[in-house]
Amino acid sequence: MRKKITIIGTGLGGLASGLLLSKRGYEVVFVEKNATPGGRLNQIQKDGFTFDTGPSFFSMSYVFKEFLDKCGVALPFEFVELDPLYSVNFRGDDKVYHLYKDVQKLAQQFEGIEPDFEVKMQRYLKKSKALFEDTFDIVIRNNFDNLFDYITTLVRVNPRHIPLLLKTFWKHVTEHFSSKEAQQIISLVAFFLGRTPFDTMAIYSLLSYTEFCHDGYYNVKGGMYNIVRGLISELEKRGATFHFNAEITDFAFNGNELTAVIDKEGRCYESDLFLCNADAALFRGRVLRRKAYSEEKLAQKEWTMGYLTFYIGVKGKLPQLDQHNYFLGTNYEEYANNILQDPDTLQKPYYYVNVISKHNPNCAPEGCESLFFVCPVPNLQYKKDWSDKDAIVDSILEDFSNRIGRDIFPDIISRTVYTPQDWQQEFNLYQGSGLGLSHKMMQIGGFRPANFDEQFGNLFYVGASTVPGAGLPMAVISADLVCERIESLAHPHRND
Ligand SMILES: Cc1cc2nc3c(=O)[nH]c(=O)nc-3n(C[C@H](O)[C@H](O)[C@H](O)COP(=O)(O)OP(=O)(O)OC[C@H]3O[C@@H](n4cnc5c(N)ncnc54)[C@H](O)[C@@H]3O)c2cc1C
Repeated sequence: MRKKITIIGTGLGGLASGLLLSKRGYEVVFVEKNATPGGRLNQIQKDGFTFDTGPSFFSMSYVFKEFLDKCGVALPFEFVELDPLYSVNFRGDDKVYHLYKDVQKLAQQFEGIEPDFEVKMQRYLKKSKALFEDTFDIVIRNNFDNLFDYITTLVRVNPRHIPLLLKTFWKHVTEHFSSKEAQQIISLVAFFLGRTPFDTMAIYSLLSYTEFCHDGYYNVKGGMYNIVRGLISELEKRGATFHFNAEITDFAFNGNELTAVIDKEGRCYESDLFLCNADAALFRGRVLRRKAYSEEKLAQKEWTMGYLTFYIGVKGKLPQLDQHNYFLGTNYEEYANNILQDPDTLQKPYYYVNVISKHNPNCAPEGCESLFFVCPVPNLQYKKDWSDKDAIVDSILEDFSNRIGRDIFPDIISRTVYTPQDWQQEFNLYQGSGLGLSHKMMQIGGFRPANFDEQFGNLFYVGASTVPGAGLPMAVISADLVCERIESLAHPHRND
């Protein structure tokens, strides 16, 4: 008889795992807190506009291709490579830097600003490449059974990278570039991990290789939510079933086996196996009530920043914008050092604007643009009251209007705002922390909440909160890793 697996959550990690497990013959059932699938990878459709809710681009497209190949599925969505990757503007300066993958073309952007940019960038990227190649398969795409296993794996990594464990991303970048513009632009990618270049380890400079050289960044034609639509359609073809509006709050067990998960309404979902795509630390603490993840212990962990996101539909086209735009200020170091904890940073905010309608005309009414703003903010540990959200949004829109040379206020026809409170409530993100647990040394690899449960032999975890970490490609790798674990349970001697 087919084994039944119940997957808690329909984020990318959950959906991808479901697809591979259905290919391997499991009966797959999803239980999801919300009314629609996708988790943070979601979509808002309002007033004729379509917006990506969270992720708006991704790296490592080959991870998706290889994974879907393994599932026996042709890519059910269309990738669009970004060129330039994104653009950057500093407050008070008219110049817009377009970040091209072609280093020669990129170097032209820094002429008169960073002497010998091309040589310096090549040197920097050579190190990032070596780091990526020496760690990707050994550390990132690998399961660890325990801490000893993790540490012995790390020992296999080329020791030339050890210095990068001991310094910050910022220090590493400033050793390669001297102008503040190049330093800030090249270190921007550290923010993609939900912290700042000043508290992120230099080993993550491997991300510079993934963005500029290896594979670049991608969008999905029609909007990122087409990833979810594509996966759901394949899952439905394979008979997977979905229960929405079903938040799991309790469980039943027998010895070392979980027998059922129970939702808020008391509905019970029995299964042979369970896979949790909800946050792996929070689920252990709040649903399984494990002491190691008590409220006190959760508060002691290091979490990523919150995001104030807002979705603006505007009349008129904005040709001065790329699809992905960063608007930075003039006090980078001070800003980055305070952003995680100090709400005053919002007086001079840094933000990102995505114009999905630029290349996807169906995402806005004719002659209009869909704008998605992301502003890093303190999470709810440091700013609980968001009654000032509209004033903050207005101040950002005012700054934005000044910088693009056009007052957009009279043309706004749609406006939706999500604060960290909404992110927390909607997707069960701890204190509204956008990317969950941070990627500090003691919270990655063997130190991150594991993808198998400590007590129940038939419970596993998938997604950004377990190994390897945050971001869409990592959620897919996480699905691959946990399926490998589940399979080794079903066929323990396969590798003997
Ligand atoms: C504003 C923002 C922008 C981002 N931009 C990017 C980007 O451009 N590129 C990129 O690669 N990454 C980006 N990310 C990160 C990316 O969104 C995540 O890493 C990824 O989507 C996580 O997927 P997941 O499957 O781990 O979890 P989630 O997407 O969080 O899915 C978990 C699911 O579990 C459900 N759930 C939770 N608790 C329960 C429960 N108790 N019972 C039932 N269901 C439950 C949730 O409702 C959710 O559907 C961004 C994140 C944010 C917040």
